[in-house]
Amino acid sequence: MFSNYFISRYIHRNCQILIVGGGSGGCSMASKFAKNGQNVIVLEPNEMHYYQPLFTLIGGGMKTLSQARRPTKTVLPKSTTWIKDKVNAFNPEGNSVTTTNGDTINYDYMLVAIGLHLDYDKITGLKEALDDQYSSVCTNYSSDFVEKTYKVMQNFKGGNAIFTLPNSPVKCPGAPQKIVYIFEDFLRKKGLRDKANIMYNTSTPAIFGVKKYANRLEQLCRRRNITVNLRQNLININSSKNETTFELLDEPNKTITMEFSMLHVTPPMSPPEVLKKSKLSNSIGFLDVDQFTLCHKEYKNIFGIGDCTSCPTSKTVAAVAAQSNVIFHNIINSINGKPLLKKYDGYTSCPLVTGYNKCILAEFDYQLNPLETFPFDQGNELKSMFRLKKDILPIIYWNVMLKGYWNGPESIRKILHLGTQ
Ligand SMILES: Cc1cc2nc3c(=O)[nH]c(=O)nc-3n(C[C@H](O)[C@H](O)[C@H](O)COP(=O)(O)OP(=O)(O)OC[C@H]3O[C@@H](n4cnc5c(N)ncnc54)[C@H](O)[C@@H]3O)c2cc1C
Repeated sequence: MFSNYFISRYIHRNCQILIVGGGSGGCSMASKFAKNGQNVIVLEPNEMHYYQPLFTLIGGGMKTLSQARRPTKTVLPKSTTWIKDKVNAFNPEGNSVTTTNGDTINYDYMLVAIGLHLDYDKITGLKEALDDQYSSVCTNYSSDFVEKTYKVMQNFKGGNAIFTLPNSPVKCPGAPQKIVYIFEDFLRKKGLRDKANIMYNTSTPAIFGVKKYANRLEQLCRRRNITVNLRQNLININSSKNETTFELLDEPNKTITMEFSMLHVTPPMSPPEVLKKSKLSNSIGFLDVDQFTLCHKEYKNIFGIGDCTSCPTSKTVAAVAAQSNVIFHNIINSINGKPLLKKYDGYTSCPLVTGYNKCILAEFDYQLNPLETFPFDQGNELKSMFRLKKDILPIIYWNVMLKGYWNGPESIRKILHLGTQ
């Protein structure tokens, strides 16, 4: 009697395609497969789905949080089964996962799309400082805190304004500096620019990974008197004293402490623990996929999309869009016993917003070569690219990408460049 109760307590489900994570990658893929008639289960714990690229504009007071979110049930196709739970363990040998409720889901194919985890605890004092509504420590990187950024900006009267990028992979590595430029423009408009010492303290050895855009951004920082401190990694915040400590990455055991009037932190990030501890991850915890086919290197019925994968490119929604078409065709081919012919070229894009009406639209591939959609120089600060970022890309996201129709701008680029790129 007792053992019968025990057996029936947990649910066992089967599906052709299991999608773990219903963020940008998971929802787009669910739509693609649903349209194609596949039997899909999506495992996603959150009631709300967020379009995170808007977070930068929310931080700058240009959009509201409600414009960046929609209920998960409205962005998933009706024919998929949404299970509101988390994966607790991957069992790739048994083609199954268990959830935190103890249920089991068996699959023929699995797509892992669980994004990145924010490791607040890697910086002493960070979480407390963010939770304290009166502190001048903020971050655009979470829906929990993004609205605080604009409040901190509005309260700024003068002093050091410090913006950080940590010593870990992050999603949208351009976002930590977009808010620097927005803030600088904000102060100019308020007539407070001469009261501020603006610093961008980054762990990276250069301001941006792609030379063309790095050159333009360096010029911009010089012109607008923004100090860029390379190879500095934030390790400690004392928010009651408004002091913060950085380790100097090129000088072992050396640190530097600075006072601040405003501190915008990009938290360190890593893949969710469940992936790190599984057999699916590489040595640093990312889903170990072939960077071209996006198929797992060992388990051929497992694919990955987006931030949680080992693909050596900048982690963005733009990358997810380009990956989605490759994964769709490769999984369908695999189901039909055919080779994986589609290859992902590393395409990613970073709209580097440089103020309240300008943007440098960086687009590039695995080789860090620019791969620009439009037949003009996107390395310039352009109003048109700002409009694209602020007004057009959100429409494409909600109405085209999440419906499974957007594969990135490759075909537009080919037309505009008459097939030469
Ligand atoms: C401030 C900021 C600015 C950005 N700016 C841009 C930009 O301008 N352009 C751009 O293209 N990109 C930008 N991005 C990056 C972009 O949002 C991400 O790269 C993109 O959302 C990645 O999609 P994903 O599906 O991999 O992860 P996510 O969209 O983060 O989704 C991951 C999902 O997995 C779920 N999950 C986590 N753990 C589990 C589990 N154990 N079981 C089941 N589900 C789980 C989560 O709940 C989440 O819904 C920005 C991001 C931020 C934060």
